[in-house]
Amino acid sequence: MKIKVVGAYGAALSGYHLTTFILNDNIALDAGSLNRMDLEEQLNIDHIFITHAHLDHITGIAFFIDNIFSLTDKTIHLHAIPPVIKAIRDHLFNSDVWVDFTKLPDSGTPRIDFATIEYYETMDVGGVEITPLPTNHIVPSSGFHIKQDGKNFLYTGDMIEAPEMWDYVNKLDYLDAMIIEVSFPDRLLNIAKVSKHLCPSLLREELKKLKHQETDIYIYHIKPMFIDDIVQDLFPKDVDLALQLLYEDEIIEI
Ligand SMILES: [Zn+2]
Ligand SMILES: [Zn+2]
Repeated sequence: MKIKVVGAYGAALSGYHLTTFILNDNIALDAGSLNRMDLEEQLNIDHIFITHAHLDHITGIAFFIDNIFSLTDKTIHLHAIPPVIKAIRDHLFNSDVWVDFTKLPDSGTPRIDFATIEYYETMDVGGVEITPLPTNHIVPSSGFHIKQDGKNFLYTGDMIEAPEMWDYVNKLDYLDAMIIEVSFPDRLLNIAKVSKHLCPSLLREELKKLKHQETDIYIYHIKPMFIDDIVQDLFPKDVDLALQLLYEDEIIEI
């Protein structure tokens, strides 16, 4: 499977964009920067999977739908656990802060529809199997286990300790790659805990729970204002962890 990094960061600053990954050209994993791609790339999107309803993961949906609305007849399918769908419906596509594109051009064939998915229930999207997993964030959230052609990939979304997710992942025969978050440097450990995010020391605690040894581990959601401190904390000289930072516009082959 192919994953394009469109937005890799946990804050929006010049040169740093909000979380969005594109799987095999047509499936978006989170959508903070979905409108940032070339128009042609946006027109390829058929499915959007959202981990949680925080604005940095959904704001691009609003402008993406507006961009493509008159250029295609298809319906884009947005998938998330029920409380996430409810939050997006109530607070974004509510006809107050943005147009309700689930009713346009008409309710029968809207430009976007919302479909609930449940933890541990696998959905097949054209041969890509996507399974939402329970995570632990300050709002209802899920990660995603994604399987295609025998490759296993995990995208955690925003999280702090997530024992149920690790239980599931450790039952897999292997895990080829994962994208996991780090938001704050270690000196802001308390803020990380209160906001239910990871800092490098908390990440190391979480990775001790992963039984698989050969997994490629990619880091996303760094707050760019702390990037120098976070990189120093992530790569101390005395700890040998094979972590990789994600760079925007890079493509990962799994
Ligand atoms: Zn976030
Ligand atoms: Zn969040």
